[in-house]
Amino acid sequence: MSQQGYVATPPYSQAQAGMGGCSTGFGNPPPHSHYGVYGSPPQAYSALPTGMLKSPASSPSGMPFPPVSSHYGANIHQNGAHAHGFPPTHVASAPSMSPYGQPPQSAYNSMAQAPPPTQQLTNQMSSMNIAGYGQRHMQASQHPSSSAPLPFLTSPPPAMGHPPLSPPGQQPPSLGSPPPLASVGSMQAPPMRMSGPSGPGTPLGGGGLQQPLGSQGYPQQPGSPIAGPYGGQMAGPQMMGQPTGAFPGGFHGGPAQMAGPPQKKLDPDCIPGTTQVIEDDQAKRGGQVYVTNIRGQVPPLVTTDFTVQDQGNASPRFMRCTTYSFPCTADLAKQCKVPLAAIIKPFATVPKNETPLYVVNHGEAGPIRCNRCKAYMCPYMQFIDGGRRYQCGFCSCVNEVPVQYFQHLDHMGRRMDLYERPELSLGSYEFIATLDYCKNNKPPNPPAYVFMIDVSYNNIKSGLVKLICEELKILHDRLPKEEGAESSAIKVGFVTYNKILHFYNVKSALAQPQMMMVSDVAEMFLPLLDGFLVNFQESRAVINNLLDQIPDMFADTNESETVFAPVIQAGVEALKAAECSGKLFLFHSSMPTAEAPGKLKNRDDRKLVGTEKEKTLFQPQSGVYEQLAKDCVAQGCCVDLFLFPNQYVDIATMGDVPSHTGGSIYKYSNFQVDVDGQHFLNDLRRDVEKFIGFDAIMRVRTGTGFRATDFFGAVYMNNTTDVEMAAVDCDEAVTVEFKHDDTLSEEAGAVMQCALLYTTISGQRRLRIHNLSLNCCSQLSELYKSCETDSLINFFAKSACQAMLNQPLKTVREILVNQTAHMLACYRKNCASPSAVSQLILPDAMKVFPVYMNSLLKAPALVGSAELSTDDRAFQRLMVMAMGVEETQILLYPRLIPLHTMDVDSDSIPAPVRSSEERLSETGVFLLENGLFMFLWLGQACPPDLIQNLFNVPSLGHLTTEGQMSLPVLDNAHSRKLHSIISSISQQRAKSMKLLIVKQKDRAEILFRQHLVEDKGLHGGASYMDFLCYVHREIRQLLT
Ligand SMILES: [Zn+2]
Repeated sequence: MSQQGYVATPPYSQAQAGMGGCSTGFGNPPPHSHYGVYGSPPQAYSALPTGMLKSPASSPSGMPFPPVSSHYGANIHQNGAHAHGFPPTHVASAPSMSPYGQPPQSAYNSMAQAPPPTQQLTNQMSSMNIAGYGQRHMQASQHPSSSAPLPFLTSPPPAMGHPPLSPPGQQPPSLGSPPPLASVGSMQAPPMRMSGPSGPGTPLGGGGLQQPLGSQGYPQQPGSPIAGPYGGQMAGPQMMGQPTGAFPGGFHGGPAQMAGPPQKKLDPDCIPGTTQVIEDDQAKRGGQVYVTNIRGQVPPLVTTDFTVQDQGNASPRFMRCTTYSFPCTADLAKQCKVPLAAIIKPFATVPKNETPLYVVNHGEAGPIRCNRCKAYMCPYMQFIDGGRRYQCGFCSCVNEVPVQYFQHLDHMGRRMDLYERPELSLGSYEFIATLDYCKNNKPPNPPAYVFMIDVSYNNIKSGLVKLICEELKILHDRLPKEEGAESSAIKVGFVTYNKILHFYNVKSALAQPQMMMVSDVAEMFLPLLDGFLVNFQESRAVINNLLDQIPDMFADTNESETVFAPVIQAGVEALKAAECSGKLFLFHSSMPTAEAPGKLKNRDDRKLVGTEKEKTLFQPQSGVYEQLAKDCVAQGCCVDLFLFPNQYVDIATMGDVPSHTGGSIYKYSNFQVDVDGQHFLNDLRRDVEKFIGFDAIMRVRTGTGFRATDFFGAVYMNNTTDVEMAAVDCDEAVTVEFKHDDTLSEEAGAVMQCALLYTTISGQRRLRIHNLSLNCCSQLSELYKSCETDSLINFFAKSACQAMLNQPLKTVREILVNQTAHMLACYRKNCASPSAVSQLILPDAMKVFPVYMNSLLKAPALVGSAELSTDDRAFQRLMVMAMGVEETQILLYPRLIPLHTMDVDSDSIPAPVRSSEERLSETGVFLLENGLFMFLWLGQACPPDLIQNLFNVPSLGHLTTEGQMSLPVLDNAHSRKLHSIISSISQQRAKSMKLLIVKQKDRAEILFRQHLVEDKGLHGGASYMDFLCYVHREIRQLLT
């Protein structure tokens, strides 16, 4: 409603008499502008006329934006980069590397250890080509003896996610491209190709080598390990059903791989590349308006720049799925093993050129819901009986339309007010919740932020306390407020602590703040009620006075021991007493060793790495924190933890409460104010300002035939269906897995509705609704065509990070590899056109899935290397659990941007190259970022004038202090351009990234190199090429 800052605009124009509150904020403009289609009765998600599809999303003038959109600072920032975290040792001394899992009889092992097969495969690889990558001339000639070519087949992307309906095999061979057989013959290796579920089609990049294999296949190569062409007929699922256990121990093991003759130089261009896929999608769909009016439509990649127009399905910014076509039966799902999941970011930031969510008020009766399944009114409800009743799109129950909600239907059976009501025609909107949705049937109070500062010796000494206090003085003006509100309704409070806690009375009437100490930390209580949580505006003078005094008050402290759990307990008690929800900001530096509940002891035993007990390193140490998390969630108390450790602090335990309350964890190892101060402040500012909802509970409802079974995120589950979050902000994503409980129908599709009940920053109870409709298929080819690799990898990353708490990491990695092979083998078996088994055929929509999967296997959390700090691994695990699709994408495939060739006059960021050492050059300068870290890498022989322009020193040799170099702002084109690139990257990321400058061959370079994810992992893990060969082998085994 307008007073909330959501002034609805077109097309919700005409206020309808007796329509509850829907009428008020809905502007004026023409009723039927661009919401159409939806709600057309028989689930006919018909496409709009093309003209309409292209119409730019209107951003009605005068439309206020949600509070968050203006908050992205153009800061250059960073997060958690810390030199000590990854021991800068043994770079060169790690020639081994194929360390997944264990047993020597592993197929991977044998591949890795025995030079011949490796050699053979790599030869094959090197002789492959991919038409779309523009390498017509392959290197096969160098390997005349190579046998068993292993071409890649991936299919041309189905047009915009709208798969042709003809079943596999029925499509005519692709359009007139000349058979490449001659060239194949002469080159001894077939071109790599992208084959589709229904056979190869158009060449990926317009190359002329494409030609359908059809049943002719490639000529069998002599010595091909698998005889007999792969036929078209499918065996049943049982063939695919190799038990997980059959996977041979993953690839661990042996240092052996490099023992054989030196590997031939491979041409990396012949295996599918992420940068190319990203570029292609940007070229094809970038800058376009993505209209959500089509069921099962696959959205552009998260990396693509597009505008969303909601026409009945939630924007992919809010919900993304692993596939947009669910299999009709559980059997099919089991057969392909493609996870069915949605990644939901309920408060995702909506760009300024897109319409913010409308708020609907159904009056005192509350939002209209299905009587049986309680789904909220949405475009999937079908009105019948002249508009007097409606059939629920989720459970099919027929409900009476409440009298005040009645509306006549038009000749198409659609309600006449279809376009005036967001809940009938849009994928996402909000309802005002009634008292029934509030605790104790009372409207909630506005939330509170409590700042809790560890004032022990380390934090005083480092200057951190002073830095925080200075910042808080100005930060309060940035507290989030409702659109149009003068000031924030959020109250603030202050606590300092070491072994004991100090509370402050900052009531506006006081001349001086008052301190109250609580030393009995075992039974935490709140020593004052009145004056602890205050309005910042009113108490500004007293608060500033307090913040000025705090650093001096503890300037001479010798206290180095701290408590931790009692601090959180105190925060919860404060919110309880004030009867409000809120957030605690904890600034903490050491492991809590003082005698108190939740006291921790150092248990960092790296000897456990690689054993069955490794998982215990990531499980919280004490039950105290579990109970605390529960208390927090019950009170709607979110905990954000800013950690400044100088050594092991047991993040697995300390992060337990934040990670169950929708909170964030930030880590600044070996914090130094002058080096890391800005980095931390950027994070703190953004965290304080960001769009957030409190005391949230989320429920995902589905149509009949399937249901949500598992949830991965920084959430708390009290039962199997309700996802509780003390708070949820614009960065937090919950990944939901679905399972069949019955058969789905192609006609009805699969619908889902995510309903999130929460308290706004001004204390209003609201329901945020996101609806999404997917297709259903009885042909697996449809499913594979509609897969979304970035979402798949998000699912795998989060489910693996969850699983590693309960299973040995080795098992977790095995499952990942096994499932990868399985998914691809099933595609090969059921969807690809018949061809030689020796060919690796990947579904087009998943052609870069293996590179992401391999990167995930090498991620610090999962890699199982004793060289990595346990805290760093635990930290990454917790981060990943809350990540959305954008964040896991960039984390697992960092951007490597060449700067030495950048066009200083261009506005854009230079096109990234593949994350591999091969792409570096001595004369180059590269920027690498993964959402958590940012590196500027300087080649040994990079041009002195570039160094001069960027650093204002004559040569590389003048840049000396390793790891501490900073990037000056200089008045020349190169410097300006670099700063503008860094700033624009930073704005795209959820957390601030600290910039680390590394010189080629410096010790610190190892920190940078571990992010080159196509290469062999520094702490274990295969190169992309090796992984692909391994997966291919597995697939072949599954197929025979
Ligand atoms: Zn229902």
